[in-house]
Amino acid sequence: MVSPVCAFPGCRHGAYGAEIHHVDAWKHGGYTNIDNLVPLCRYHNRVNDDDPWRKSRGHIAMIRGAPWWVSPRGYHLKNTDRGALDQL
Ligand SMILES: [Zn+2]
Repeated sequence: MVSPVCAFPGCRHGAYGAEIHHVDAWKHGGYTNIDNLVPLCRYHNRVNDDDPWRKSRGHIAMIRGAPWWVSPRGYHLKNTDRGALDQL
């Protein structure tokens, strides 16, 4: 896993206690390996669009080894490690 916090931008929920999200949805054949897994808090795991064509709440995509949130309109945002530091 590549992030110490929930990968959703602005979320400060620590990876501890978060759920493990398959970036390429498991139900669509996504692999359970380190490059396809990011921590998401329970809430953001629920609202992620597992079907990318269903543009409702956006989804997490892995770009150059980092998890980015892609908005329903295609805008990209990335969470930072700062959220984790602020939690300490
Ligand atoms: Zn979150």
